[in-house]
Amino acid sequence: MSKKNISDMLTSYDKKDLRICTVCSHSSLQIFNGAKKEGFKTLGISIGEKKKFYDAFPLGKPDEFLIVDDYKEILDLTATLRDKNVIIVPHGSFVEYLGADKFMELDLPTFGNRDVLMWESDRKMERKWLEGADLTMPKEIKDPHYIEQPVIVKYHGAKGGKGFFIAKTYGEFKKRVDKKQKYSIQEFVMGTRYYLHYFYSPIQNNGYKMKKGSLQLISMDRRDETTIDEVQRLGSIQELEELGIHPTFVVTGNIPIVMRESLLPKVFQMGEAVVDKSIELFGGIVGSFCLETVVTENLEFKVFEISARIVAGTNPYISGSPYSELIQPDLSTGRRIAQEIKYANKKKMLDKILS
Ligand code: AMP
Repeated sequence: MSKKNISDMLTSYDKKDLRICTVCSHSSLQIFNGAKKEGFKTLGISIGEKKKFYDAFPLGKPDEFLIVDDYKEILDLTATLRDKNVIIVPHGSFVEYLGADKFMELDLPTFGNRDVLMWESDRKMERKWLEGADLTMPKEIKDPHYIEQPVIVKYHGAKGGKGFFIAKTYGEFKKRVDKKQKYSIQEFVMGTRYYLHYFYSPIQNNGYKMKKGSLQLISMDRRDETTIDEVQRLGSIQELEELGIHPTFVVTGNIPIVMRESLLPKVFQMGEAVVDKSIELFGGIVGSFCLETVVTENLEFKVFEISARIVAGTNPYISGSPYSELIQPDLSTGRRIAQEIKYANKKKMLDKILS
């Protein structure tokens, strides 16, 4: 979507009646709740009737539903959605259900810079971005014959860590790998995991000051992954593997967490470097993003992934986190996104935060 298209679309919009819209899943309760708190109308796109479910959470329920049989139908409904002055707030499931290509083509003003998608979804480009920002990533093992330490094997595009496995030797790798899928092999980093939820505004100066705009740390979580996080209840991984039971990394939920305060300056430095590099590479990330990290026993961060939009790990904080409480009471990532849209609208800068 070109900047011109966005500007053209926005000229036909009634700016006093903007509507925040997303797909009814992932972090939608939080997005709708945050939008309502900032005075926006909301629209939820869902497959089949979800009203009964959303009735259970009136403060996270969209004002209106658009029911489809398949998310791809959204592509044919863009004119209707534009008539409703819709601004899309994408989340991981939104992009996944629609498909990356279709998401890129979607003819609707969308929060954030969509160009980030190719940098985030291609592991090589992601590494170029993050290492280019001087972040330390887990070592990549190019040839499985050289597995000399525990590694994690990741299939490209695998949803929720599905199929990922740990190997300690080439023999273990060979036994488990599915050669039909594209994979990459990474050093398995020993340490504790922190998933850091940032918000970068290119248009406001209300946080950690950047060359342009400012950065906030809204919250952090640890993912709850089955079966790896509970496997020790049954025995050691080695014992279980001998029985043919292999741990998996499927995300089932999220656990709130805070970090040693002395590590927080480093958290900001990393966020700043990632944003600065993104500006250089593709015009800049906008809004929420998450660095997925492991902190080692030497208190070093290794960053194994970036997600460039609201992550489900922000869901424990619908009424604020220990960090966002220090910015504004009752501030979730969903609400922060709505605030950014509201501010940009007031200052006639919507084109700076939408794509
Ligand atoms: P990802 O799809 O890259 O987010 O990885 C899924 C899960 O695998 C993460 O949430 C971590 O629990 C684990 N993981 C990924 N990469 C590493 C790594 N290099 N070392 C240790 N654990 C990892």
